[in-house]
Amino acid sequence: MSAYEAVIGLEVHAQLRTRSKLFCGCSTAFGAESNTQTCPVCLGLPGVLPALNTMAIEMAIRAGLALNCTITVPNQFARKNYFYPDLPKGYQISQFDLPICQNGWVEIDEEGAMHRVRIRRAHLEEDAGKNIHQVGGGVSFVDVNRCGMPLLEIVTEPDLRSSDGAVAYLKTLKDILMYLDVCDGNMEEGSLRCEPNISLKLKGQDLLGTKVELKNINSFKFVKHALDYEIQRQESVLVDGGTINQETRSWDAEQGVSVMMRSKEEAHDYRYFPEPDLMPIEISASWVNTLRLSLPELAKAKRERFVAEYGLPPYDADLLSSSRPLSDYFEACVEGFPNPKTVSNWIMGELLHALKNDNCKVVDSPMKPDRLVALMKLVDDQVISLTTAREVFLDLFRAQQMPEDFIRERGLMQISDDSALDALIDEVVHKHPKQCAEYRSGKDNLLGFFVGQVMKVSKGKANPQKVNTLIRQRLMNENVQS
Ligand code: ADP
Ligand code: MG
Ligand code: ZN
Repeated sequence: MSAYEAVIGLEVHAQLRTRSKLFCGCSTAFGAESNTQTCPVCLGLPGVLPALNTMAIEMAIRAGLALNCTITVPNQFARKNYFYPDLPKGYQISQFDLPICQNGWVEIDEEGAMHRVRIRRAHLEEDAGKNIHQVGGGVSFVDVNRCGMPLLEIVTEPDLRSSDGAVAYLKTLKDILMYLDVCDGNMEEGSLRCEPNISLKLKGQDLLGTKVELKNINSFKFVKHALDYEIQRQESVLVDGGTINQETRSWDAEQGVSVMMRSKEEAHDYRYFPEPDLMPIEISASWVNTLRLSLPELAKAKRERFVAEYGLPPYDADLLSSSRPLSDYFEACVEGFPNPKTVSNWIMGELLHALKNDNCKVVDSPMKPDRLVALMKLVDDQVISLTTAREVFLDLFRAQQMPEDFIRERGLMQISDDSALDALIDEVVHKHPKQCAEYRSGKDNLLGFFVGQVMKVSKGKANPQKVNTLIRQRLMNENVQS
């Protein structure tokens, strides 16, 4: 058992889903050709002035409220000065001593126990561009499309104690931001970037150790790998009697190691000062209140309501509330077919499977709730058997046809008509005289065998409940007759 315990704090940059950049009208769309989404403001040409995007403020407030933060009334932007080729202005407009959101918390599930991770602050800032290095070519390019993109930097207190906890926090945060529609949560495209800070301390002691900041992590999986690696590395340094240097290290996902980038810079290195081109802003209480009232129900509240209101098992509730489109889909179906567990089974089983199979998002599902409702009703009314409905689901999903028409065209209707079923039963009874005799002599469990045979000759279309009753009657009658 290790004598040390990990201490982790996360800095997350979330790109806000505004249509234009933070201080100019340039588009924020991802994937455009390099250097096509720029203007004198985001290029930092002399003589131009930034103009603040109100939507970014609104999104930051909404995020702050959902993260239980206090919204700072007097807000001010600050210049963070540094030189780098992807930063044409030579400074980044950020916030320093007056971040828009402060002192919040989120609740996470870490190893089965709920606990709070405190949010120290969340501030608005503009993004820098991107340097692109040609592999082996000795040439680098700069793409400044990303300059001026709106970011919310969300910083926790050092409250996390494990790599799993860090991942749980990130998932929770991502869910919240996506539910609010303020960030698309796409880590691969860089809309959600995470920089963990990590140190080790002796178990049972309050004194924190020297921390290392990790950069260049672009998926949840790598967050865990990088932290686990770094915990091991720091521990072996300490066990050998060495000391940890405060530094920034880069995660190399291919090699699975962290490498030293630079020793840690301090705030004063950036010569922060109030941004003279932007007026300080006051956020009114009425604006904050309006936004507070408009917050959507978040995943956790929804999960609890799904259990309480619909009687769903926690597993179902958890999965169905994991994204807003999925939970909306579920509730739309329950409205048309008020049997929540049946709806949940269809969604968690066939629907999610079909979506995955066709690499399709819930919102783009060709099977809209009305068609799933229609299908569930047909099964409920015994027009089609559950088995057949399941079998044809993927075809129906893609067919964009109402289930009634689909089933009629393909002759998939369940056989519930007594005389049609009697004919099938005749066939089976005559084919299996030996089993009939055994049943008559008391081998009751052969009933299943007969039902199975009838289902087989009907190619799965016979109504199993009716077959069950009819066979039982038939074999009893024959028993009396013989
Ligand atoms: P810096 O000024 O170096 O950026 P901060 O105090 O602002 O450091 O903290 C940055 C992040 O590092 C925060 O998320 C914080 O929780 C975390 N952090 C601070 N001290 C430690 C520590 N000793 N070990 C792990 N994380 C830490
Ligand atoms: Mg920092
Ligand atoms: Zn611009």
